[in-house]
Amino acid sequence: MLSKAHPRYESLVLRDKIVKASKEGLLADSAMIAHGRGEAFDYLLGEKTTIPAKRAMYVTVALMILSKNPVISVNGNTTALAIDEIIEFAKAVDAKIEINLFYRTDKRVDKLTQLYKDHGYPEILGSNDDDIMYINEIKNPRASASKTGIYSADTILVPLEDGDRAEILSKSGKNIITIDLNPLSRTSKMSDVSIVDNVVRAIPFMTKIADDLKSQDKELLKGMIKDFDNKTNLEESLNSFKIKEDIQ
Ligand code: ATP
Ligand code: MG
Repeated sequence: MLSKAHPRYESLVLRDKIVKASKEGLLADSAMIAHGRGEAFDYLLGEKTTIPAKRAMYVTVALMILSKNPVISVNGNTTALAIDEIIEFAKAVDAKIEINLFYRTDKRVDKLTQLYKDHGYPEILGSNDDDIMYINEIKNPRASASKTGIYSADTILVPLEDGDRAEILSKSGKNIITIDLNPLSRTSKMSDVSIVDNVVRAIPFMTKIADDLKSQDKELLKGMIKDFDNKTNLEESLNSFKIKEDIQ
């Protein structure tokens, strides 16, 4: 049993969730490595949500509220870490959820589909091969997307996306939003809005923002989006990392 008094308690709880999901066959082999990379960045961030991350989250929620067909793309890691929070956020902004796996296997898609059903969300997209289309007709598994989901979406939230796929998405003309603890990843650099934060903090925070912004004037939301510059915000996110500390 993990003790709550342990200085790394929260982080170890997340690590346990990833290990458990891996044992259950929900994750690709490289998923633990991706999680570890995220952990390292989060450590340097003090495991806290920064001001630039919050700013990007407000813009994200505004974009999702104003969009016709917003979609949240999920993989094994995001599901293992925050399935209930993702479902709640999707409902708050009226978005669809689509399973999109970098290393897609039918077995893992089926397991994730079942998990969403078990958590009260049977409408999950991306679980049916018949529904698959290719973004910009690129016949590459990296470009695959569900017809009524990512393929026809105007705004896509892609937490923990891979750079190759982010590049294809960014060329599609859709609004691409990512949650990635690494401000230097290709995904962060290529997205229209980059939230440099842990998905476990960002997703529930955005549900709260949605409760606030839903009743606001649409012009106000448009103004927030117009005033946002992702490059400047990413630079600010990068400056939030603590890479110098006195060793006592
Ligand atoms: P890219 O392909 O975009 O250049 P990468 O190859 O460095 O990025 P990937 O392994 O493709 O990284 O994707 C994993 C990314 O997800 C990493 O940048 C990692 O920092 C980030 N990450 C891992 N866990 C979390 C988490 N819980 N919350 C937010 N980001 C995370
Ligand atoms: Mg990558």
